[in-house]
Amino acid sequence: MLLSEAMRLGAMIRPQVKYLIFARASDGALGSCALGAAYEAAGMAIATERFIWDYSAVSPEWLRLLGHRVSPCPVCGSHAWRRLGFSVTHLNNDHGWSRERIADWVQAIEDEVESRNHPQEDARQTSAEELSELVSA
Ligand SMILES: [Zn+2]
Repeated sequence: MLLSEAMRLGAMIRPQVKYLIFARASDGALGSCALGAAYEAAGMAIATERFIWDYSAVSPEWLRLLGHRVSPCPVCGSHAWRRLGFSVTHLNNDHGWSRERIADWVQAIEDEVESRNHPQEDARQTSAEELSELVSA
């Protein structure tokens, strides 16, 4: 599951909170931040009051993505949050973005990383198109 998908899924489980992965919202309900939502959707077990979590739910792919260098903050332009994981928490905590909005932003980066990691697939697709043109000519 993509990080962005898990974030959207987890956002449906609980209200949003800031500054902690899981914490009590103002109404007392247990909430999650953007990363907490993704982790929970990926199967991270939450022990209620002490919030013990198991990071084995975080896949190596997610860890690589969380460490991916990103552009300055899309809201304030700050260069202080140059890793995707830090940017996610910055958007969640300091700019009050919803987890769904953060997921859209993460998805754009996932798409960019995916296309950069698999440029040869585009080339193969082009060859297939060229081949079909040759066949139909
Ligand atoms: Zn910012």
